[in-house]
Order: sequence, then C-alpha cells, then structure tokens
Amino acid sequence: MAKTGDSSHAGSAQGNGQSNREQCSGLGENSSINRDAAVGQTVPTDHVRVFDLHCDTLDRLVLGDDSFIRLVDGDPSLLCDLGMANQPPPSSQATLKNNSFHVSLERVAAFDWCQCFAVFIPDALQGETAWRFYQTVKQYFKQQLAEQQDCLQQAWDFPDIELAFAAARSAAIATIEGASFFEHSLAPVDEIAQDGVKLITLTWNNQNAIAAGAHAQGGFSSFGRKLVAALEEQQITIDVSHLNDQSFKDLRSMVRRPFLASHSNSRAICNHPRNLTDDQFRAIQDCGGVVGLNYCNYFLVEDSRPVMPEDVLRHLDHWLKLDGELNIALGSDYDGADMPDWLSPCENLSQLYGHVQQEFGNQIAEKLFFQNAHDFYARNW
Ligand SMILES: [Zn+2]
Repeated sequence: MAKTGDSSHAGSAQGNGQSNREQCSGLGENSSINRDAAVGQTVPTDHVRVFDLHCDTLDRLVLGDDSFIRLVDGDPSLLCDLGMANQPPPSSQATLKNNSFHVSLERVAAFDWCQCFAVFIPDALQGETAWRFYQTVKQYFKQQLAEQQDCLQQAWDFPDIELAFAAARSAAIATIEGASFFEHSLAPVDEIAQDGVKLITLTWNNQNAIAAGAHAQGGFSSFGRKLVAALEEQQITIDVSHLNDQSFKDLRSMVRRPFLASHSNSRAICNHPRNLTDDQFRAIQDCGGVVGLNYCNYFLVEDSRPVMPEDVLRHLDHWLKLDGELNIALGSDYDGADMPDWLSPCENLSQLYGHVQQEFGNQIAEKLFFQNAHDFYARNW
C-alpha cells in the first residue's frame, strides 16, 4: 500500500538539496539562489511566492520516519500509547524550524511561502483512536506555532497570508487528510473549525464511515452526506484528493460550495486512481476550484524511470489545454511521498519555477505557484 499511495517513505528527503541548506538558514533575510544543474537555470527564490496545498510534515515530526512508515503500512499499535500517554514526540530533537525532512521553516524562509499543513490520519486509525491522534498532532502544531512565532503564523483568514509575508514570516494553514475520526457524530466539526481547519479530505485510500477512497469500492454513506453539509456550513472546503470515482460523483451532486483537489495529477497523462480524469478536472473548474500538482513519482509517470521536469510539465500542459489556467496550483505531498531529488527538499522548488517560466511564461508560473490557490481562498474564506 505504501508504495502505491502517496504517503510512502519520502526516501529522498536527504537528497541533493543538502548543498542548498546552509544558504536558507537565515529566516526572512536571504535571497538564496538555487542552480539547476540539469538545465543551468538560475532562479532567485526571493521573487518566488508559493502556496502549497498539501504536505505531511507534521506527522513526520510527531512520529519520526520509522513510526510514520509503520502507521501508513497499517500498524496502529504505537498510536494507542502516543494518543493516551501524551508523550513528547519521539522525534522531538527535530522541529518544524529545523529538520531533515522535505519542509522546514529554515528551508522555506528564502521564499514567501504559504503551507497547508495536514494532520494526516492513516486508514489504520478510526473513530476514537483517530480522534486522539488528531489531538496529538494538533497540539504539536500549536506548540510549534507558539515556539516559532518569529518566522511562522497561522492563517486564520486569507489576509493573514499577506500579513505574514509582510512580517517576513511563512504562513501556515491547518488542514486534515483522512477524516476517519468521524464515525457517527458530527460533533467534531465545530472543534476542527475552531482549530482553523480550512480544508479536509474525507478519506484516505480505503473506505471509512464517510465515503470510499481511491483504492476502495462504493461511494458516500448517508452519514457522509450529512457531514459534507455540516462542513460546508462551517466553510471548511472539501478536498476530493483520495476519493474514488464514485465518491467524487456523489460529492459533485451534493456540494453547495466550491471544492478542490489538493494533491492530484492528470489521469490522462498518468493512469493512476489517485489522479483526476478530465471530466473530474472540469467539474472542479466549473465550481471555481483548483487542483494541486503532486510531485509523487507514482502520480507523475506510469513506469519506474526517473521523473524528469518534462514529465511534470506534461501534466500542466494537459490542464492548460483544458483551459485550466485559473485552476492549477501546487500540492507537493512533501514528506508524504517518494519524489524526484530535483524537487525535494522544498527549496529545490525554485527549479520547477524556472522550468514552468521557461515553458509557459511568467504569468502561468505565478498562477500555478501562488495566485490561483490564494484567490480560491480569497473567494471562499
Ligand atoms: Zn495524500
């Protein structure tokens, strides 16, 4: 499961980005330059604004690499202890500011960076255990926000993003991936709204009490339908990444507010159930939604060859041919997926910016990297 899902081991987290790391160590004060050896492009990162709709960095920090993999692979045993004993995170020597994963505040400091930080709840956790795990990761996130307030602030409202940038901080948006703590009661809706959660995928890859995920059969339950209405009432955006085709169809017929896909690619280019068909992309377009480009190898190419920049551009090119200029965004899946070294760790993203700029021009690069996702929130918060 882990190798076909996106939340498999981010094995390249220690990849060739190490050489850039020192350059990004001064928060909000540098203008580091990343050089793309493959193409020879140079992109000044202080001109790049980023709005990334999905990463799994919080789970990595709370669990550490080994436990993260165990959990994704379906072993929930460690979490009973973690949730109930309120222990400090096993990987507590790493922080959001400084770690060896894909995303750290030191790494993003060279950009104007808005990051959606998901609490990722794997299928191994359901009901009360899933809720305790949500609370554990949430508390860690709050603690990090308090400790790193010189360089990070939570975006409770969309103007907070620009305010953060003006204060040389990165912006953080709270999101959820896999809402399996919802089983019978809608009560958690109010609490996650108070936590500032703006975006939620209702399933991970299997079925839960709400709906069926990308690797499961079936669609929405009647409870799931009630939940969608309750979430929309709280202006929490539904994220269709991880829904299977039937669940997507069900959702499309019941939503009242715009929805989005935070981290999915084009199925016409890479035939994977986690990717979107053209019809699904158009449904998102029709409601004014956005689709976050995912850097996971398995969602970019169908074979096991190394993913090249042109493989990523092919997905964008396809969406642009569907008139998707206002619907493309970024959904890295950092710290939740295997991805090419030239895209990770996150400071290497300037290389993708250079490729997109060269292929499609400045305006498309701006829209993809920041503007479209920002405008979605401006319209819907
Ligand atoms: Zn995912």
